[in-house]
Amino acid sequence: MNHPSVTPSAVDDGKPIIDLQSDAYFMGQALREARKAYAAEEVPVGAVVVHEGKIISRAWNQVELLKDATAHAEMLALTAAQEALGDWRLEKCTLYVTKEPCPMCAGAIVHCRPDRVVFGCPDPKAGAAGGWINLLDANPPLNHRCDVSPGVLGEECLFLIQSFFREARERKKTERIHGGDGGVGGTKTEDA
Ligand SMILES: [Zn+2]
Repeated sequence: MNHPSVTPSAVDDGKPIIDLQSDAYFMGQALREARKAYAAEEVPVGAVVVHEGKIISRAWNQVELLKDATAHAEMLALTAAQEALGDWRLEKCTLYVTKEPCPMCAGAIVHCRPDRVVFGCPDPKAGAAGGWINLLDANPPLNHRCDVSPGVLGEECLFLIQSFFREARERKKTERIHGGDGGVGGTKTEDA
């Protein structure tokens, strides 16, 4: 008897194999966090911390939501990772973040001591992983150095941030044109 359904035609169907341990995969997860920030009208930066191949924390920038200028994605992800490990030393950990860390986050990274930092798009103006300055490389006053891998999914990460600021600018312009004074959608209850 013929059993056509048994034919192993699905073995090589040309589907791309997703490497669940690759930098691109984990950066994709950080990008998912960044999109949550975008949806919440926060500057879209996301981060994940990976320990021995497993994601132990995820976070997105929540400066506006928490009204806390220190609530960058990296800071929140580092704190959550320390909680997950029950240790402030993030040994055997890699931090993935969609944008080059700022000096505050780079300082925090050095204190938490992950082995590696992988970031998406560079920040030549304010980046502290080589863009403006480099706090993650060996510095005399700091006692830890991280391996740094820049530019992973960099274009996607940059595109998200650029779209966010373009939209924010356009929103402001429209508000100005329609005489809105910061109200939601500039809606007026009465037409004068
Ligand atoms: Zn930062």
